[in-house]
Amino acid sequence: MRKIREAKPQEKCDVSGCDCDSERSIPRKKVKDAMEWTLKGEDKSAHLCKAHYREFKKATKEERKLEALRR
Ligand SMILES: [Zn+2]
Repeated sequence: MRKIREAKPQEKCDVSGCDCDSERSIPRKKVKDAMEWTLKGEDKSAHLCKAHYREFKKATKEERKLEALRR
């Protein structure tokens, strides 16, 4: 699928203080549940840059691991 640049400007990372281009968008609730980040914007989904997405993924993975250990 081709993107039209003029119609949709590059989104920025929604984590407060971060100014990188967004790489992924994640449901805001998921991000808030997993991380203690302050998010900019009011969108249903939060945009994350590559670095923040990696952190988020890592955190959610570790959470799952902990849950598995508890059983
Ligand atoms: Zn970021």
